[in-house]
Amino acid sequence: MARACTDCKRIVEKSDECPVCKNNVLSSSWSGLIVVYDSESEIAEEAGIQTPGRYAVRVK
Ligand SMILES: [Zn+2]
Repeated sequence: MARACTDCKRIVEKSDECPVCKNNVLSSSWSGLIVVYDSESEIAEEAGIQTPGRYAVRVK
């Protein structure tokens, strides 16, 4: 199962490290999913996301 970075909430699938912020603390306890295609979009700005990709809404 995919895990989420506890720092920037990026979904990380085949790695033990977040490709965005290099955090290696990943959580399998997350919910909700935001898919960002364009970091300039409103949803990305609201969520504070600067790199396109998949992100969790909440990470425990
Ligand atoms: Zn991260």
